[in-house]
Amino acid sequence: MRLLLVSDIHGNLEALEACLGSAPEHGAIANLGDVVGYGASPNQVIELLREMDPISVRGNHDRCCCGLEDTTHFNPIAADAANWTRGELSEANVDWLRELPSGPLRDGNWDGVQFVHGSPLEEDGYIASEFSASAALEISPFRLTFFGHTHIQCAYARQRYVTEALALERLNVASCAQVSRLRLDPNTRYLINPGSVGQPRDHDRRSAFAVYDDEKQEVLFYRVPYDIARAQERILQAGLPRGLALRLEDGR
Ligand code: ZN
Repeated sequence: MRLLLVSDIHGNLEALEACLGSAPEHGAIANLGDVVGYGASPNQVIELLREMDPISVRGNHDRCCCGLEDTTHFNPIAADAANWTRGELSEANVDWLRELPSGPLRDGNWDGVQFVHGSPLEEDGYIASEFSASAALEISPFRLTFFGHTHIQCAYARQRYVTEALALERLNVASCAQVSRLRLDPNTRYLINPGSVGQPRDHDRRSAFAVYDDEKQEVLFYRVPYDIARAQERILQAGLPRGLALRLEDGR
């Protein structure tokens, strides 16, 4: 079965629609957190996601936007966006956010897999280097950990006491999407980040997601163009900070 992996959608409806439009057929979907915050379509994004009944963990922005936590540890732009989002969300969507579990989360259909927002060691921890990946992989009994939070599409592997960032194999596909493959070795433990749907930060403005295939034992990483101008226009119309619109075109 294929599992569609999405993370850090951040209220960007245009990006989420483009990802769903490019994704291959799949039997399930997992959301790795930060559904809302920054973008101008928090209700629409939650509603679209809820229809697909995803496996979900909460992100730090999800907690702030539904009032589980205040925004004192956010920078002023993130705090502005969280406060705007909180005012915008319907009661039903606030309730949905409040009930999201923290990771690490397991699911009965996916053997040897765990889902987290930041790190298995700490809900809001950042895995952004081989060093932090190594610390997480050392203690993890799971073969596959899917994580988000950094907004960087990547994979790390640990084998024989060594952790390394992996190069992905670019495939030739006849579509506007860029697809790269990672073949999984049965004796290796992996940390895999599908990248951010709604606010990529790896200097590639295209929306990111991934697909895990447990029969083929591979992960496909996607980059897809979306209507950035429309997402920016909605951010500006909503009165959200201008920088949130500008950063989308730089992918940072
Ligand atoms: Zn995020």
